[in-house]
Amino acid sequence: MSENQTTTAPRAEEGQAADFDAIVVGAGFSGLYMLHSLRKLGLSVRVYEQGDGVGGTWYWNRYPGARCDSESVYYMFTDHMSEEILGEWNWSERYAAQPEILRYLEFVTDKMDLRRDIQFNAKVVSAVYDPERRRWDIRLADGGAASARFLITAVGCLSSTNTPKFPGIDTFAGESYHTGTWPHEGVDFTGKRVAVIGTGATAVQAVPEIAKQAAHVWVFQRTPNYDIPGRNRPLDSGYAEEVKADYRDLWQKARESGFGLPYQIVERSAVDYSPEERQPIFEAAWAKGGFYMGLETFSDYLVNRESNDTVSEFVRSKIREMVNDPAVAELLAPKDHPFFTKRPPLENGYYETFNRPNVTLLDARSTPIEEITPHGVRMDGHEYEVDAIVYATGFDAMTGTLFGMGITGRDGLRLQDKWRDGPLTYLGLTTRGFPNLFVITGPQSPSVLSNMPVAIEQNVEWIAGLIQYLGEHGLDTAEPAQEAEDKWVEHHNQVASATLLLGTDSWWVGANIPGKPRTLYPYVGGVGAFRSLCQDVAEKGYEGLVLTKEAAPAAAGG
Ligand code: NAP
Repeated sequence: MSENQTTTAPRAEEGQAADFDAIVVGAGFSGLYMLHSLRKLGLSVRVYEQGDGVGGTWYWNRYPGARCDSESVYYMFTDHMSEEILGEWNWSERYAAQPEILRYLEFVTDKMDLRRDIQFNAKVVSAVYDPERRRWDIRLADGGAASARFLITAVGCLSSTNTPKFPGIDTFAGESYHTGTWPHEGVDFTGKRVAVIGTGATAVQAVPEIAKQAAHVWVFQRTPNYDIPGRNRPLDSGYAEEVKADYRDLWQKARESGFGLPYQIVERSAVDYSPEERQPIFEAAWAKGGFYMGLETFSDYLVNRESNDTVSEFVRSKIREMVNDPAVAELLAPKDHPFFTKRPPLENGYYETFNRPNVTLLDARSTPIEEITPHGVRMDGHEYEVDAIVYATGFDAMTGTLFGMGITGRDGLRLQDKWRDGPLTYLGLTTRGFPNLFVITGPQSPSVLSNMPVAIEQNVEWIAGLIQYLGEHGLDTAEPAQEAEDKWVEHHNQVASATLLLGTDSWWVGANIPGKPRTLYPYVGGVGAFRSLCQDVAEKGYEGLVLTKEAAPAAAGG
């Protein structure tokens, strides 16, 4: 038997679609935990994964410098998945690098014996609901087919790359790479002239590494970010042991928190403190490194512009300290948006990289990139001749991959048509017209505004709980009631409007993709509050969902 064949799931007869209880799409963190959870319920499950290995984001994003921006000790499956794995696994760095996270996910896959239910190199191109059979019919790019009662998407939030349609992009004669589909064999930039387009969290990790090899790097920046020092370092084994000893409490704290991290949030506003009182608070978080800057200093940055101005100015002052050339520092210092209204990247040597003689920062805001030529990038009438272009230009986040899967619900309704003006969901997990479709870390759930494993764990466990409930009550389908969906969307929008997030152009609001509806995609009410809401829904017999049972055949003569 090949290693990717399933042992628990039924096999299809030749030429027939295989039938499963559940189909999961994607084998990253969420797909793996979903598979494990459904197996525990005794369901037959097939996971379809486009790549030839597990890992999701960590399978695809292999660009130089790729690492996690959550501290590695909190970026893993919890005791809910396996106490044993938690005990056995040891991270080597404060923020694990991509190869280590991928090794971790492979370790978990093997340890939990998940591989046998995953079909690799399997891209789902259509998923159509048949109301007669109450089943989802799946088609794969290679012509394969399958059906299942439950369809669960575990496709990640950042899995469809975005490459802007620069004029002439196909004429470039050198090497081009998108960071989100990086060659597995790596790229050697030694002695090369390289253009990097973009300055988001990805570029902030990649540029310092590329600059170490390249002859010259030109960084095309449209919007500067508030990059926070990561202060990555080898993980102190004493610290790791301490965290392990305390894991139960820490996970619980993370689950109940706003952003999925067990940090010490202090409810206070920066405006209530004098500049002299604020400075040591900012300095302490800056020295600590990581998201402490946003989470453990003051708690109202997202809702109070005045408070936000104080931290924004602090970060700008730090940039001016780190970058030698005042003109370059000014260009790197963001002034067009408040702190944390775009995802702040964590940097490990990014700003200092601009002190190197082989790195040049270019202002693609004042003078947008005009075209890609056979030899390089033309901007402001100048052609920057390069050997390689790195597109660190992000993703069609949260909906791009879902829309690409051809998801079609009742009455031939396509997901992208239903969500034409923005996502319409109940709890971000379900959407009316698509019975038994469950979306992990979908729009209108906390997803990317949380440390991802914590958001994923909650989503997966809620979905598994609902499927278990259906089974125990002899029910077939779950689908939100119109009213419940309308209320959730209204609540989501209300919470979003109370923040500064909608006012900034970011991928969180879809602003990076031309024509994409502008709305806050992730739910900003907090992962802990969301968990309570979902729990409450479950305790009330899945209130807001219409749960149905297939009509029993009419009794003869009845
Ligand atoms: P991103 O944040 O969307 O950044 C894309 C960059 O490309 C931006 O600087 C953007 O400028 C620029 N860009 C796009 N179109 C352009 C154009 N036509 N001309 C010039 N510049 C253009 O994408 P990303 O850096 O890949 O990060 C996406 C998300 O992935 C992050 O926010 C984070 O959530 C996640 N991520 C996580 C980690 C981690 O935790 N390990 C690491 C990396 C990324 P504008 O800002 O002006 O649009």
